[in-house]
Amino acid sequence: MHESTGITNMKNRILIVEDEEGIREMLGYTLSREGFNFDEADNVDSASTLLESTLPDLILLDWMLPGMSGLDYARRLRKSPETRHIPIIMLTAKTDETDKVKGLDYGADDYITKPFSTRELVSRIKAVLRRSQSVSDKGTIEIEGLSLDPETYRVSAHGQSIEISPTEFRLLHFFISHPERVYTRAQLLDQVWGQNVYVEERTVDVHIRRLRKTLQPYGFDKYIQTVRSVGYRFSTVH
Ligand code: CA
Repeated sequence: MHESTGITNMKNRILIVEDEEGIREMLGYTLSREGFNFDEADNVDSASTLLESTLPDLILLDWMLPGMSGLDYARRLRKSPETRHIPIIMLTAKTDETDKVKGLDYGADDYITKPFSTRELVSRIKAVLRRSQSVSDKGTIEIEGLSLDPETYRVSAHGQSIEISPTEFRLLHFFISHPERVYTRAQLLDQVWGQNVYVEERTVDVHIRRLRKTLQPYGFDKYIQTVRSVGYRFSTVH
């Protein structure tokens, strides 16, 4: 067999931010075996320095880091126009459900609990990359002053830019492209997250809540409607 080369073989680049050397090595080994390029950092400062020269396609971010925590760093990455579109998977040793939800609230796209199998890790990375790369460029979509640009991942309300994470962006993009129809959580998972067996239906509720919170200052949260015992709908009709 002959390996393909050149632009058709463009590799995804992943930034590993993890202070435990053993885990970092295991992650690096797994990623190269799967054909990814990677950079590694053992704290937030080194990660920031790396980001100044190369923007990765995804960040694997440990929760507990010396200095600034992974959680606070995720929030900071979401605030910066240069990094807000980069998907983040949090690595956490915590099994507490509220902590996981908090990770998603702070801007992570997914989380994985240590110890994890490399197989699970790889399938989660691939699922998140698929999701982030599947938002197609169909030009800016606008409904009643709420505008989305699939190319830049920018959302604005009456011309004012809104800070939004990649998952919320995809969710809003899906809703706005399919208005006035009710979707169950399972359907939203399929459509927005892809067929990822690891994502629970409750995750949809977490992201809906975040999306509403993001849109709330502009009054657009009312467009994301709960349809009791069925699911959710995007509607400009109240
Ligand atoms: Ca750690």
